[in-house]
Amino acid sequence: MTTPLLAPWDTPFALPPFDAIEDSHFAPAFDEALAEHRVEIEAIAANPEPPSFENTILALEGAGEALDRVLGVFFNLAGSDSNPERQALQRDFSPRLAEHGAAIYANKRLFDRVRTLWETRADRDLSDEELRVLELSHRAFVRAGAALEGDDAERMTAIKSRLSVLGTQFTQNLLKDEADFLLPLSEGDLDGLPDFVVDSARAAGEAADLDGPALTLSRSLIVPFLQFSPRRDLRERAWRGWTLRGANGGETDNRGIAAEILALRAERAALLGYPDFAHYKLETEMAGSPDRVRDLLGQVWAPARAQAEADAAEMQAMLRADGHDGRLEPWDWRYYAEKRRRALHDLDETALKPYLQLDRMIEAAFSCANRLFGLDFAPLDVPLYHPDCRAWEVTRDGEHVGVFIGDYFARASKRSGAWCSAFRSQARRPQPRTPVVVNVCNFAKPSKGKPALLSYDDARTLFHEFGHALHQLLSDVEFGSISGTSVARDFVELPSQLYEHWLEVPEVLGEFATHATTGEAMPQEMLDRVLAAATFDMGFQTVEYIASAMVDLEFHSGPPPADPMQKQAEVLEGLGMPRAIAMRHATPHFAHVFAGDGYSSGYYSYMWSEVMDADAFQAFEEAGGAFDPAMAEKLERHILSRGGSAEAEALYTAFRGRMPGVEALLKGRGLAA
Ligand SMILES: [Zn+2]
Repeated sequence: MTTPLLAPWDTPFALPPFDAIEDSHFAPAFDEALAEHRVEIEAIAANPEPPSFENTILALEGAGEALDRVLGVFFNLAGSDSNPERQALQRDFSPRLAEHGAAIYANKRLFDRVRTLWETRADRDLSDEELRVLELSHRAFVRAGAALEGDDAERMTAIKSRLSVLGTQFTQNLLKDEADFLLPLSEGDLDGLPDFVVDSARAAGEAADLDGPALTLSRSLIVPFLQFSPRRDLRERAWRGWTLRGANGGETDNRGIAAEILALRAERAALLGYPDFAHYKLETEMAGSPDRVRDLLGQVWAPARAQAEADAAEMQAMLRADGHDGRLEPWDWRYYAEKRRRALHDLDETALKPYLQLDRMIEAAFSCANRLFGLDFAPLDVPLYHPDCRAWEVTRDGEHVGVFIGDYFARASKRSGAWCSAFRSQARRPQPRTPVVVNVCNFAKPSKGKPALLSYDDARTLFHEFGHALHQLLSDVEFGSISGTSVARDFVELPSQLYEHWLEVPEVLGEFATHATTGEAMPQEMLDRVLAAATFDMGFQTVEYIASAMVDLEFHSGPPPADPMQKQAEVLEGLGMPRAIAMRHATPHFAHVFAGDGYSSGYYSYMWSEVMDADAFQAFEEAGGAFDPAMAEKLERHILSRGGSAEAEALYTAFRGRMPGVEALLKGRGLAA
């Protein structure tokens, strides 16, 4: 059976035929496309001809085209417009895909061909990009363990499967501890809390069948409770419940799991010939080595800690003035920080919102892309996957560049957060493809006839995701596997975080932040408050983040710790952690690091990207302003068009003439001396 997913897409710009696709099409299309990819891979591996770039690497690039099409549509819909049928399909597809990927990397004949090409690369007259995809392909096989033989190969398989079991268990324990915590409150305990916290506490009590309100560990309840409750005793109990997740003893305790995970990761790295797991993990990142991460975090730590200590002294005085003896504790910080914030930067969100209309902020993002890169956006009338979605054709000098889809409103079927993904990424070989990119957000949908209004954070999110979209749209490389956002994890947030800076350019807000009813521009005084509030309490935020990033890095450096909690204590002691601040994520609930492999020895990467975006925007300011045409041209030529076609460090250095320093980041966070 041929479904609309696999039939040729005879639509404008070869968009997925959304109006013809039904959920019942996914399973048969997935089966057929997966089988087709297997046949293609087998044909490449079994080719009697000696390996060449064309019959091996280029053939791998071209293989799985049908699977890409099916999964591009499926996973986008599963994330942004889910339903029970799509959830069931996802549970079916995910393990089968993992197995499919593992089988490709375990294919010895395929690896032999790639290895032969890699070892004879000097004789092959390959272009830079061809060499790059060959290098990445070879490296991926080696890092997956394809070069291991006998017992080592068996041990690697056993380690990977045990790690996946432990990661799942870590997450489930965390969820169980979060679900089990319940602190019943009396109505009197709610004194001093804003209405929205009172409502959530009452709703939590009702959900637990209590007669009164209650506190749970739901982030949207516990965090504002710590921020607003004047009851120091209750804040302490709430804070302890929150920070003890995964460390409550018994069956759900994650401390033993963390130790086992660290030991297995170290063994995995040793089997592959690396000195430790951090070296293995950072090899493919821009940072490259643990020492460079340590160096970066170290440079930011001292000024951040100094700022946090100065803030702590102010809050210590406020605590005294409230009649409490003793020292400022971690459960006091958010409460007194919120009091200071209100005193220093009171921002009236309700007065601000009418100036931030969704449609005008979209126009602002498009306008900046037009001034910087000459892109034009024309609305498209095409069938999409949900009535809230909109699409634009993106052109430059009249030439088609790609299609941009905006899916901005929250709905029950959408997962939380905001993201950018592609239905199709750019490539020139073996078949030319133009990108189809989507930004998905969770902004509040207005009632009928009213304009959609954003918070300032929402507007920043819109620019952030649009920066990722530009990375895809401006991509101009030969091969799909290295196009657009297919770059190192510590480099991928550069285009997005960098684009946020254009929202803060006064002439942009001046032109596009206009009042929904009066049409007037945002008053300067309001704009100043918005910008000043952005650096508030940055000492605290930077300290809690770096503490977690440093513990993550040291866990994976050198021999694995037998007792991770003791190691954590040593690292914090070595840093001189301020006593009233806790790590953002302590080990027993550090899901970034232990629930899977994604951010292990990689939690630093948020700050690494921020160092670059601050430094890169400073390049514009030094050159002649936010819209300096020569800088925009450089940004596109060296970064936005290049995807992963070269090492991130080479791309950045080509753009900036040097590697980034931390000065611009410290200034941006309000931590510069
Ligand atoms: Zn991002």
